[in-house]
Amino acid sequence: MLIVREEMKEGCCWTVRNGRKIDVWKDPWVPGLPTKRPEGRPQEAYNVKKVQDLIIQEEHRWDENKLQQLFTQTEVAKIMEIYIPEGTDTNTNDKLLWTPHPKGDFSAKSFIKYLNANTPSTSTNDEFPWKKFWEVKNIPPKIQIFMWRLLKNGLPVAHNISKHIHEISDQCKLCDREVENSEHLFLQCPTTQAILFASPLSLRVGEQPSMTIQNHVTQWLDEGGDYTKLKMGACVWWAVWKARNVVIFNRAKLNIQSVLKEALYWANMETTAEDMNNMLTETDIMESQKNNWEPPEVEKIKINFDGAAGPRGFACGAVARDSKSSFQGCKNQSLNYCKAVEAEGKRALLAVDLARRKGFRDIILERDSITVINALKYAHYKPNWRIQSTIDRIRDELSLFRSVDFRYVKKTANNVAHNVAALAVTSHSSNEWFTLPPSCIAQLIVSECSSV
Ligand SMILES: [Zn+2]
Repeated sequence: MLIVREEMKEGCCWTVRNGRKIDVWKDPWVPGLPTKRPEGRPQEAYNVKKVQDLIIQEEHRWDENKLQQLFTQTEVAKIMEIYIPEGTDTNTNDKLLWTPHPKGDFSAKSFIKYLNANTPSTSTNDEFPWKKFWEVKNIPPKIQIFMWRLLKNGLPVAHNISKHIHEISDQCKLCDREVENSEHLFLQCPTTQAILFASPLSLRVGEQPSMTIQNHVTQWLDEGGDYTKLKMGACVWWAVWKARNVVIFNRAKLNIQSVLKEALYWANMETTAEDMNNMLTETDIMESQKNNWEPPEVEKIKINFDGAAGPRGFACGAVARDSKSSFQGCKNQSLNYCKAVEAEGKRALLAVDLARRKGFRDIILERDSITVINALKYAHYKPNWRIQSTIDRIRDELSLFRSVDFRYVKKTANNVAHNVAALAVTSHSSNEWFTLPPSCIAQLIVSECSSV
């Protein structure tokens, strides 16, 4: 928290009006001095605290005698240079000016500009790529600053505050279980994990327990391009922070959908009202926590799909089963020389293709990652440009079915599809099985059927 405040302060200076708000020793208020703060005479007892005590208010002038007692000769001279305006009734308050801005107005943009200019290109004591971070231009400035505070551990989370004020509980108000520090609130807290997973990031924090906030951001920065993930991550965390404040100050209850709504709004995905209604519900999230595969409702066909990585690229697999857990066909395909994100699109396409070939009418598409699912579900969600055309094609094909549902499951519940994809890797070929499953999944299908 201190680091943040310091960096903010360096760019600021108070304009003295009545001096009531300004701390003589701690605040920057003397523009003529190098640190904008007087140090005072060494032995002087500092019973003066606010700048107002140095002003003869009725006459709008400095109390020169007092200044002489407290400060060095240079300091007195510099303070005397500060003009105290008479002001009007409404305009007697001291104003904090943001000095890097020509008009002194503080704006998030000018603050970022200031930090950019003042961040050394080779960071001295931390590894984080700050320069790259500030070069990202498509995140709303206030959210970028929020991220910067988060990364510097400068947010007033309970643990940070309780270090200074002991009466304050450092318990997380979202789960009432753990200490609320940044890593807990933004990654480890069960509520946040549900939000991160339900968001377009589909982030499963539990699968990479040692990743810190900085690790995630660094990884998102490495992605380059238009930094879609970083932007989304920042907006989700911003929304979590805002919701957390509402929980604490208004004693309200956190609602996962509203947090997501807020995050998507800031990520500027032009999400429509209709999309909002299709948003993941608490039930979806609970469903997704299930470890085992479950059959679909009667008359529906569930198609699980997944991918596997091989030496020459990726492969994908899709398996269809009905409400009695019976095998209804499967298909795999090896995808050589394509990018990970492209592969993700092709996997969904394979699942839809299988459904079309088999003539199913009511289908459920199930996957343990929701990147593509989100793109399909939310009409205005902008997926990575590389898969835009695949997504468009899948959407067109999906419109031919009577009903389409999307589900999310844990990896362990998606094993059958994964094995079919892996088979394409080892056999270097693409195949389809319409009546009997390939031997590599036959046993698994039976065991998943009996475990239900
Ligand atoms: Zn918590």
